[in-house]
Amino acid sequence: MRLFKADLHTHTVLSPCGDLDMSPDEILRLAKERGLDMIGISDHNTTKHCKLAKKIGQELGVFVLCGAEVTTQEEAHCLSFFETEEQLQEFENYLQQHLPDIPNDPEKFGYQVQVDEELNIVYEEPKFLISAIDQSVEQIEQKVHSLQGLFVPAHIDKPKFSLPSQLGFIPFDLNVDGVELSIRATKYDYLLRNKYLKNKTFIQSSDAHYTNQIASTYCYFEMEEISFAEIRKAFHQEDGRRVLLREEVEQKEQ
Ligand SMILES: [Zn+2]
Ligand SMILES: [Zn+2]
Repeated sequence: MRLFKADLHTHTVLSPCGDLDMSPDEILRLAKERGLDMIGISDHNTTKHCKLAKKIGQELGVFVLCGAEVTTQEEAHCLSFFETEEQLQEFENYLQQHLPDIPNDPEKFGYQVQVDEELNIVYEEPKFLISAIDQSVEQIEQKVHSLQGLFVPAHIDKPKFSLPSQLGFIPFDLNVDGVELSIRATKYDYLLRNKYLKNKTFIQSSDAHYTNQIASTYCYFEMEEISFAEIRKAFHQEDGRRVLLREEVEQKEQ
């Protein structure tokens, strides 16, 4: 088994808050340059840039985990990832169906554009993508798992837009595949205050909105090879696969 470096939370220019330089092309180029083996494409409430990112990733040898950062009815952000194009498309339809008809104000919030490989704008999303969809966290979790996806509450250490900030905790009966920490937290400190999560799989990601943030933090997947099935096993700590944070790997090397 070997360690694969992963930053599973990245926004493209399609997210209103994503910088205009965050084209799939540029993101993948920088991911490669900075030594990532895997990157997650997780725009707010949309998966529309995943297909192009995956294609470019295949050319460059960086595995792209396709999904979205969903805003639940409770205003909590949760990462969702899918294996196949069909599953991703069905989730995209679900998001469009449940995203409220609130228009984006590009001057105020930023542009929501989809680009092609030559950086031509091919689509502009009219609905404001950061809005909460009209589905609860449980409903979204069930939808993700009905499509054999992975469901990971995002930046759970943050005082805003996280499940703990909105509900006070991660519900015990919520079927999460893992939980995510932001760049500011350490698992060690977080668990001192949140012992109830000690058996969960933690990932840590950059939540990059700007090019300089890509791979500013990451985690390691210990697996045989990079595939969705192996990633799922790592999240579930099966057959010796697991996820390790930088604090668990890089300290030992010193
Ligand atoms: Zn978020
Ligand atoms: Zn995010």
